Amino acid sequence: MNPPRPERWAHVPEHTWNDWTWQQQNRLTRLPELEAAFRLTPEERRAFEASAASFRVSITPYYASLIDPDDPSCPIRQQAIPQLGELEVFDFEHRDPLAEEQHMPVPGITHRYPDRVLFYVIHHCPVYCRHCTRKRKVSDPTTAAALRQIEEGIAYIARTPAVRDVLLSGGDPLSLSDARLDMILERLLAIEHVDLVRIGTRNPVTLPQRITPALAEVLRRHRPVYVHTHFNHPRECTPEAARALNLLADAGCVLGNQMVLLRGVNDDPELVVTLNRWLLRQRCRPYYMFQCDMAQGITHLRTPLSTGLKIIDRLRGHCSGMAVPHFVVDLPGGGGKISLLPEYLQGRDGPWVTFRNYQGDLYRFYDVPEG
Ligand SMILES: *Cc1c(COP(=O)(O)O)cnc(C)c1O
Ligand code: SF4
Repeated sequence: MNPPRPERWAHVPEHTWNDWTWQQQNRLTRLPELEAAFRLTPEERRAFEASAASFRVSITPYYASLIDPDDPSCPIRQQAIPQLGELEVFDFEHRDPLAEEQHMPVPGITHRYPDRVLFYVIHHCPVYCRHCTRKRKVSDPTTAAALRQIEEGIAYIARTPAVRDVLLSGGDPLSLSDARLDMILERLLAIEHVDLVRIGTRNPVTLPQRITPALAEVLRRHRPVYVHTHFNHPRECTPEAARALNLLADAGCVLGNQMVLLRGVNDDPELVVTLNRWLLRQRCRPYYMFQCDMAQGITHLRTPLSTGLKIIDRLRGHCSGMAVPHFVVDLPGGGGKISLLPEYLQGRDGPWVTFRNYQGDLYRFYDVPEG
C-alpha cells in the first residue's frame, strides 16, 4: 500500500525512519531540499520563493514519501508544496476568517460557543498544510504560546464554569512534549466543570511515528480524551497511520476525523467513501467534512458548496451511516459552524410531506400538526 520510499531515504534504517525525532529533525523546509526530493515545476519554485516567508514550508520525510515526485497534480503535493494560487488575493478573503482573535477573553483562548473553548497551546506542526485556515499565525515562531500563556488559559477555564469541553489546538498539540501534554490534561480534567478534553492533531497523518507507546500511556491516564484528526485522502491511509490510530483507540481515546474538502485533492464522492471506510476500520469516525474557509491564499483549493452536498448525497444510503460526516461551513466573522444537507424534503401538501430518498425515489409522509 505504501509507495516505495524515495531513493534519498532508501538507506535510512527502519528504526531510524520510525523514530519521530529523526522525522522531525529531517523535515524538508528549504527550496534545495524540495528540489532534491521532487521534480518541481517552475510555478512551484516561484510559489515557494514568494510564500515561504509568510507561511513556512515543512514536510516530514514520511509525508514527503507519500508525494508522487513527478506528478504536479498529486493530492498530497497540493497539501504540502506551495502552489501559485497561494499568491492570489481576493477582496472577499480574510486573514482571520473565523474572527478567532476577536473572541479571545485571554490570549490563546477563543470562546465563542457557550460551553466550549478552543485553546491554542502551540503554533508548530510537523507539516504546514497549504490550506491551513490559521496561516496568519501557525508556523510563526514569534506567536508561540509560552508556558505563562498556557497557565493563563487554564486559569480562565477554571474560573469559567460554563466551559465543559476544551479543544486543544494550535498548531498541533502533539508537537508538545509528552510531559507538557500530561500536565495540561491533568490540570484541565481536574477542573470540576470540565467534562472532556479534545486534541485536534494532524500527527497521525503527517507524523504517525509521534504516536508512541509512551504518548499512548499518557493519554490512557486521562479521560475522557477525544482526538480529532485530519485525514483528507486515501493515500494518507498507510500502515503507519493505521498503527497510530489503533494505538490511540487502544489507549481509550475516542477518535474522529475532520476532513477539509479541497479542489483537486478529495472533491470526489468515491474517494471520500474509500477514505471513510478505512477510517471506520481504524475506529475513527468521520466527524466533519469542512467547506474550505475564506482565508487568504487558499481560494485556489476551494470547491463550490454543491460539491460537498453531492458527496453527502452519495454517502447517505450507500454506506454505513457512521461513515457520513456533517458537512460544515464555519461562518466568516465568527458566526460559528452550520451544517448543510442535500434537499430531501421536496414539497408539502397539507399534512402530507414528500421526501426524496437516497435513490431519488419519492415517498409521502403524514406529518402531525404542530402544537
Ligand atoms: C469548531 C469550534 C469549536 C468546536 O465545535 P464543535 O462543533 O463542538 O466540534 C469550538 N469553538 C470554536 C471557536 C470553534 O471554531
Ligand atoms: S496541522 Fe492543522 S494547524 Fe497545522 S498547518 Fe495543518 S491545518 Fe494548520
